[in-house]
Amino acid sequence: MTATFAAVTHDKVLGLLLGGALGDALGAPFEGRPSVDAADLAAEERAPSRLVHTDDTALTLALAEHLAQRRDAERLDVDALALEFARAWRAEPWRGYGSGTPHVFGLINAGVPWTEASRATFQGQGSYGNGAAMRVAPVALVADSLHHAAELGQRSAEPTHSHKHGQHGAACQAAAAYLALHSDPAHPLDRTRFLQDLARAVRSRPWHEKFDRVAELTRNGARPKHTAHALGNDASSLGSVPTALTAFLTHPDETTQTIRYAIQAGGDADTIAAMAGTLAGARNGATTLSRALISRLEAADQLHHLADQLAGHPITLPSRQGRVRGVTDTNTNPAVTRNEIIDAVEDAFRDGSATTQEILDAAIRYEAPVELQATLQRLPDRTFGHVRDLWDHLPDVPLGD
Ligand SMILES: [Mg+2]
Repeated sequence: MTATFAAVTHDKVLGLLLGGALGDALGAPFEGRPSVDAADLAAEERAPSRLVHTDDTALTLALAEHLAQRRDAERLDVDALALEFARAWRAEPWRGYGSGTPHVFGLINAGVPWTEASRATFQGQGSYGNGAAMRVAPVALVADSLHHAAELGQRSAEPTHSHKHGQHGAACQAAAAYLALHSDPAHPLDRTRFLQDLARAVRSRPWHEKFDRVAELTRNGARPKHTAHALGNDASSLGSVPTALTAFLTHPDETTQTIRYAIQAGGDADTIAAMAGTLAGARNGATTLSRALISRLEAADQLHHLADQLAGHPITLPSRQGRVRGVTDTNTNPAVTRNEIIDAVEDAFRDGSATTQEILDAAIRYEAPVELQATLQRLPDRTFGHVRDLWDHLPDVPLGD
């Protein structure tokens, strides 16, 4: 279930990046088809050719590099990011960019501020396409809570997607990637809980209606074609992000199956498969991906390098009080205090005792920082009569202020 917290390993970070790139490159030859035959897809998987990525991965690489270069608490400089996206487009305009984006990037490259450029498309309404959602996943690697992931996702969308649907799509995919990354593949995924968590992160009626449809489709084991019909498979954010989500929630434990499902939904197959592959890769890790396919991926080396840079190196995280707390090198114990743990888990003890799982669930509901949740992972599996009993197992955690 979602609430079963797992540590974010290097394998999961790499899985998020490679899963997305694999979905993109494998889906690209099928883009625009109303539906995709399983035999055609199998032939593509067996082919010896290089798997060439499209705009989805090109802009994901730009965002991942942006985050890897910044070690401050916020990590996201939207002004710089707008220029970096526009530069990525100028360097490789042949990567299959959608209709509105080159116009926005052209304006940014010509010196128009992104705040203006992003509104210059679709009769001034701005883009509600899936272009911000398709590139957003790396923000989940630096976010310290579900809401932080959604917020970073939304901000990373702003330079190109001024329409709220475009921004909500990015927030949704970022939050889903965060949940997938922190889910434990050793336990079944609780789909209901996953969608409830997403609904908390994306507060928008049209999105909540889509989440209800996703729940229904996954419950009924809908086929890809049916899902595409029910939710859409186009380049709009509302017409593709929920379809990718359905692919993942239908096969949460099998990344290759997730990607196949997404491609078989047809339409904007590369982007839908990129988003779906990202989620499954983040949950299941890179080791579950086909080595033969990964070795064909054009950007594999670059993605490995970025995973090395982004995995396990949170340098500073903003605390709940808004001060910046110095955290970690990989091996040092992060600065979590007993008082912070009490605040995060006291809800679990409301009716008396609490199990380790209830304590972990309470910390997730509280959206406790990742390092606090990781500290709680050290507790043995048992029932605790009182919150003070935790200290027997966490003797090194200081009291705090
Ligand atoms: Mg594409």
